[in-house]
Amino acid sequence: NFEFKPASDFIREDAPERYIYNMDADKHEIAISTHDLQVFYGDNLALSEGDLEFERYKITSLIGASGSGKSTFLRSLNRMNDDVATVNGQIMYRGVDINTKNIDVYEMRRHIGMVFQRPNPFAKSIYDNITFALTQRGNYTKEQLDEIVETSLKQAALWDQVKDELNKSALALSGGQAQRLVIARALALKPDILLLDEPSSALDPISSAQVEDTLIELKNQYTIIIVTHNMQQAARISDYTAFFHLGKVIEYDLTRKIFTRPKVALTNDYISGNF
Ligand code: ADP
Ligand code: MG
Repeated sequence: NFEFKPASDFIREDAPERYIYNMDADKHEIAISTHDLQVFYGDNLALSEGDLEFERYKITSLIGASGSGKSTFLRSLNRMNDDVATVNGQIMYRGVDINTKNIDVYEMRRHIGMVFQRPNPFAKSIYDNITFALTQRGNYTKEQLDEIVETSLKQAALWDQVKDELNKSALALSGGQAQRLVIARALALKPDILLLDEPSSALDPISSAQVEDTLIELKNQYTIIIVTHNMQQAARISDYTAFFHLGKVIEYDLTRKIFTRPKVALTNDYISGNF
């Protein structure tokens, strides 16, 4: 019921000055941006942020102490907070304010997918986990579905491990495999933007590394915004890092700057563990 303009309409020539001091390229495609966002849980103002922009095809890490508003922000981006919070302000996605009543939230979430901390596969087969949302809302042939299952499992680096057991229950997968299945499930909808809230923090180190490798593979094809408590992970995978403190972003810059020469003392305290 709403049409997104092509992403190429949202190229900006100048770097957003407030947070990002030095961008790599001259031109920056903005995938999604927020304006005067305020999130209230009852009377509690959990997030109050002026303008934030996220560059297309880049990975942006959201870091900061527990309770600083990272999940609140991320969940607001695809309207996961609607039932529990009051979200004021604009969320602009390809020319449309998606934080308005008339938005078809399910349609919007095909463009902006979410992966949570705990892998949450459905109690269905591996195959059906991936095709479920598609078959609910569209008409696909078996061949098309087969192809989508294979492509998205390959993108999530899970195909080789499960290709002979697609009809097995997804609940039998290990934690790391389940998380990659959930990522494949999100990718099957061909989203533009992938939001991940601590996707590997519930996993053992090896599974965590596998999820991280998957994200690196997805780089340059998807806009990824990821909450992580793992500073090495943020430094390894992300192009940009935003540091949250008490419901605001107080520093947002190229990751390599944040981790070598942060401009704000609190950022340095946080990343060096002196918080
Ligand atoms: P983070 O993800 O950075 O740890 P959160 O966004 O979860 O932080 O929390 C920010 C603030 O909002 C905290 O004070 C937290 O208690 C509050 N909060 C988060 N979720 C809810 C909720 N569903 N209901 C009420 N308060 C919440
Ligand atoms: Mg959180």
